Amino acid sequence: MSWLTNFVRPKLQALVRKAEVPDNLWDKCGQCGQMIFHRELEAAMRVCPHCGYHMRLAAARRLELLFDEGKYQRIELPKNETDPLKFRDRKRYSDRLREAQLKTSEQDAIIVAHGTMGSTPAVIAAFNFDFMGGSMGAAVGDGLIAAARLAVLQEAPLIVIPASGGARMQEGIISLMQMPRSIIAVDEVKEAGLPYIVLLTDPTTGGVSASFAMLGDIAISEPGAVIGFAGARVIEETIREKLPEGFQRAEYLREHGMVDLVVPRAELRDTLIRIIDLLRHPMPPAEVVNLPVPSSGETHGQIATS
Ligand SMILES: [Zn+2]
Repeated sequence: MSWLTNFVRPKLQALVRKAEVPDNLWDKCGQCGQMIFHRELEAAMRVCPHCGYHMRLAAARRLELLFDEGKYQRIELPKNETDPLKFRDRKRYSDRLREAQLKTSEQDAIIVAHGTMGSTPAVIAAFNFDFMGGSMGAAVGDGLIAAARLAVLQEAPLIVIPASGGARMQEGIISLMQMPRSIIAVDEVKEAGLPYIVLLTDPTTGGVSASFAMLGDIAISEPGAVIGFAGARVIEETIREKLPEGFQRAEYLREHGMVDLVVPRAELRDTLIRIIDLLRHPMPPAEVVNLPVPSSGETHGQIATS
């Protein structure tokens, strides 16, 4: 018996233990329910290889995927007053903030960085949905202003990537004031004649969709992203009507003229580079070339080519 318990059992247990797979090695697709190997999912930029479902992406990972060679410099954002209203629901707002900061290792729901895209300088402001649902308070407003001013300073296009549930209710009226504030910020970019591009990701809702997010010179969206102001259920209950299929999805918005392009994540970088190039060099210099002289000798002309 001792041989069995002391030798055979540990050996068997060791064998079984090796075969066990930790849970965090696999992710479940939110749309088709398939299990996907974690590394495979990361390599596919968190797009389900089975059904093409675009999962949410952390802001830092987005910047890495968009900038040349994944290299960029972040800028430090101004420290603002936390909890201006001393707000409290089930928890203090200041405690919620601290928890989100610990969870994400970020100060607030937005990060701003600059680098190059296709060798052209670009500024990107990206939302982190993991930070209190990407909600927009004064710190996010500050981030958008800083991003806009940096773009003007560098004469670079500004790309904003919202992923947000809307205004941050714990900041009350101050969060609502970020709507006009963010609009003024992106107007500075437009007034400087620089491209302002919005990449709408899942979800872009509430006060964010009602302000800077729908004002891009070009509005691009990821497939399947939810984009809207109020939630579909709230609208249905208010108007007492069934909403059409795909309502508030990126593809529906494109069909109805609210979004210009729906671009899969793998093609986003190339598409953005192409758009920036088109917007920055809209008129290639035309040069005049002489047409070959026709054999009849009757018509001589010149044609402007571009
Ligand atoms: Zn899937």
